[in-house]
Amino acid sequence: MTVSFLDVGASYRELREQIDAAYARVMSSGRYVGGEEVEAFEREFAAFCGTRQAIGVGNGLDALTIALRARGIGAGDEVIVPAHTFIATWLAVARAGATIVPVDADPQTLLIDVQAVGDAVTPRTAAIIPVHLYGAPVDMDAVATIAAQRGILLLGDAAQAHGARLGARDVGALGDVAAFSFYPAKNAGAFGDAGALTTDDSSLAARARGLRNYGASAPYRFAEPGLNSRLDPLQAAFLRVKLAALSRWNERRRAIAHTYRTQLRAVPDLILPPAAPPGTQPVWHLFCVRHHRRDGLADHLARSGVATQIHYPQPPHRSEAFADLGFAPGSFPVTEAAADTLLSLPIGPHLDDAAVQAVVEAVQTFATA
Ligand SMILES: *Cc1c(COP(=O)(O)O)cnc(C)c1O
Repeated sequence: MTVSFLDVGASYRELREQIDAAYARVMSSGRYVGGEEVEAFEREFAAFCGTRQAIGVGNGLDALTIALRARGIGAGDEVIVPAHTFIATWLAVARAGATIVPVDADPQTLLIDVQAVGDAVTPRTAAIIPVHLYGAPVDMDAVATIAAQRGILLLGDAAQAHGARLGARDVGALGDVAAFSFYPAKNAGAFGDAGALTTDDSSLAARARGLRNYGASAPYRFAEPGLNSRLDPLQAAFLRVKLAALSRWNERRRAIAHTYRTQLRAVPDLILPPAAPPGTQPVWHLFCVRHHRRDGLADHLARSGVATQIHYPQPPHRSEAFADLGFAPGSFPVTEAAADTLLSLPIGPHLDDAAVQAVVEAVQTFATA
């Protein structure tokens, strides 16, 4: 038996009739940018997240960039980001022209170390971007306490956490604004690139709507230099279908994570992701274990037919892209150790029980091999 890392085509096979109907609806509408399909998705996604507004954009990186720019954040401003994240979180700050201020990860959760966020705040801090990495919500109330007393923008990077909850609140409703990616492999994935912002702040929302459309304030009137980053109506129509399946799919991810967590508990030297704190509901975008012989484990799994990935093998501060920032090796030790030991096991809404069991057995036999 072979187990692929993620079968992104499975969602189309499951929902083919509705997706094909959505395609036909958009194609025959004659409206290929903006319009009713985009507006309907924005209403439905805002309702899903429990926010007043959702603004569809071209992708997750643009959602983050636009959120910063919608508050006028740019040159001279500092933005606190996790050292341990996908590079897009950092790129958004760079594109806004602001200064990246990285903070190391908490060694248990690998989420941003909230204590260290407080220590990193200066009079120039304009925003904090906690990332709900792997689908696990950051304790945003603790970060909000730091942000609120200084008027700092709290922007959640929810690209991996569609549907995750902190108490009764969806991650889209935490902080001042949240940014989502609908990259195909995400929990709610389009069939191409797409993204969105969610917020209750109507002035931030209005500026974001302008920024995604060249910075327009009215037809052919431009308030500021914006982007062209609009949510495609085809992707909006597909996402409306996917959104209706999302909670059920997240439930399946939670069941798989539960199986991994119980059946791999006794494997020697294997560090499992920690249980979610009471009241938080993660959505397991990824299931990342740690092992000091990570490459050996990955090889063993590959020989057993189980595909794995690493999220992420190179922290942004060690990438060539950010070499000019001058962070030496050892700057963020928790993040760097994670990069050397992390391994992501297959997880997804269409992974069946036999495949999950094959993964479990392959990991267990590494322990005895
Ligand atoms: C995927 C992702 C992004 C970027 O989203 P794109 O749609 O690919 O631009 C940003 N942040 C995180 C944490 C992500 O996983």
